[in-house]
Amino acid sequence: MAVSTNAFEMAQRQFDHVADLLNLDSQVREILRWPLREYHFRIPVRMDDGSIRVFQGFRVQHNDARGPNKGGIRFHPAETVDTVRALATWMTWKCAVADIPLGGGKGGVIVDPATLTDGEKERLVRGYIQSIWKNIGPRNDVPAPDVGTTPQMMGWMMDEYSRLSGEYTPGVITGKPVGGGGSLGRTEATGYGVIYTIREALKHLQMDGSKSLAAIQGFGNVAQYAAIGFIELIGGKVVCVSCWDREDRTAYTFTKEDGVDPHFLMSITDQYGSIDKAKAKDAGYKIEDGGAWISKDVDVLIPSALEGQINAETVKLIKPRVRVIAEGANGPTTPEADEVLKANGVFVIPDFLCNAGGVTVSYFEGVQNDMNYYWTKQEVLERLDTKMTQAFQSVLDMALKENVFMRDAAYMVAIARVAKAMELRGWI
Ligand code: NAD
Repeated sequence: MAVSTNAFEMAQRQFDHVADLLNLDSQVREILRWPLREYHFRIPVRMDDGSIRVFQGFRVQHNDARGPNKGGIRFHPAETVDTVRALATWMTWKCAVADIPLGGGKGGVIVDPATLTDGEKERLVRGYIQSIWKNIGPRNDVPAPDVGTTPQMMGWMMDEYSRLSGEYTPGVITGKPVGGGGSLGRTEATGYGVIYTIREALKHLQMDGSKSLAAIQGFGNVAQYAAIGFIELIGGKVVCVSCWDREDRTAYTFTKEDGVDPHFLMSITDQYGSIDKAKAKDAGYKIEDGGAWISKDVDVLIPSALEGQINAETVKLIKPRVRVIAEGANGPTTPEADEVLKANGVFVIPDFLCNAGGVTVSYFEGVQNDMNYYWTKQEVLERLDTKMTQAFQSVLDMALKENVFMRDAAYMVAIARVAKAMELRGWI
């Protein structure tokens, strides 16, 4: 979902729209329109030059009726409490639609992490935990990495929490490195989750996966495993991927009409998801402008880079052959483009269903931490497949029953589940 300065108003508007469709009770609306709790705190950090800088931190807990709050911590210079509130609200819906027993939370610090040394980063994340540790924990709120934070930072946070609480508590945070309490399969989780939902969509539309073509925007964590999955699990071809080129400060599309080789492309991609143009060209890839992916004559589009990519202008470029749009990224489609896709009968797998594989394996990480027993990668991915398939099916059932677009159906499933949990707990 697009994150703008008024992101929280947008989250509330989306909620109101679906609350109307569901004819939701006014007291339930009153609870769900706002986060139940939020914490604002200032974090003083000793910098390497001996001075003290004070950072603003937030943690928002939107709703924990279904289980402990869950959501990442972002380090971003433009962070605002409204962005964090919106993201926490969306986490409530994402966990509910994936049917994992967790609520919605999100955290943030106003900082550009690129301006900090490793030592300063470590002191800042430890300071964050010192400020909030009494209000988080495996049973009430479990943070994770997000924009600007890394598995190493999660390791420091887990250590600080364990030190303050006096016991080893890996389940307080997910996204930890493997070997430090992390789960196998987390790297693949979001991209493969996207693929499990595409596989189900193709089945529903009675399309043959082995004859389908896909175009992907992005070549980072989500897109790489979506590309591998489309080829290896669905049996189709991926005709292009795209990426941002940091040197040229523009995006490019890397095309091979007879199918890209994602393993090769990964071998020439840096840690930020930028592909080496010269090596790709040598290997026979056509290098086109960054927008070319959207106008490919394919069956499936998989936007997996940024928000707002399918908008009132670009939606006109989509070819009639496209039957499925699988939103690997958060918020890739604007409401105006959504209306066009609806009118054209394109089957959209909405972001908070399509990319829920990441949070699902984060939940598995917490389960494994609780048991102190770790599954193989195959076990993790099989369980992920089961969860994603069930989630897709319940949204599709709602869409067919109520005759609504998949995005509305996903909200309806999620909001109804949270409302039900509140009722069962006697909150309403
Ligand atoms: P990433 O940073 O690993 O990769 C982003 C990719 O997008 C890179 O290849 C980058 O070069 C490319 N890119 C950036 N600007 C571009 C442009 N203008 N045109 C084309 N490509 C461009 O990020 P990621 O983790 O793969 O996340 C991608 C999206 O998926 C984001 O919206 C993120 O919020 C969402 N998401 C990620 C996860 C996860 O587990 N990683 C989970 C849920 C949602």
